[in-house]
Amino acid sequence: MITQVLYCPYCQGVDIVKNGKTPQGKQRYQCREQACDGRTFILDYAYPGQSRKVKQQIVDMALNGSGIRDTARVLQVSTSTVIKELKKNKTNCNQ
Ligand SMILES: [Zn+2]
Repeated sequence: MITQVLYCPYCQGVDIVKNGKTPQGKQRYQCREQACDGRTFILDYAYPGQSRKVKQQIVDMALNGSGIRDTARVLQVSTSTVIKELKKNKTNCNQ
């Protein structure tokens, strides 16, 4: 039973089940969404804020004039994740 809501880093789906542990003792998860067909991933990489695609979306949304809170809500990441990414990309952003 997973109480924390997890998102698949590949398809952003939420149909996630535990799937044993890695040799390093990290919890491994399996995505049961049709798009992934049983693909597994590790929790450390499970948060959308960690995926490159979402990071790019954060920057894209900022450049399109979306506010931090709007961006966080749409991409289902925390506002601190959004702020962190925007600071990292400040040189690309004229706002
Ligand atoms: Zn998936």
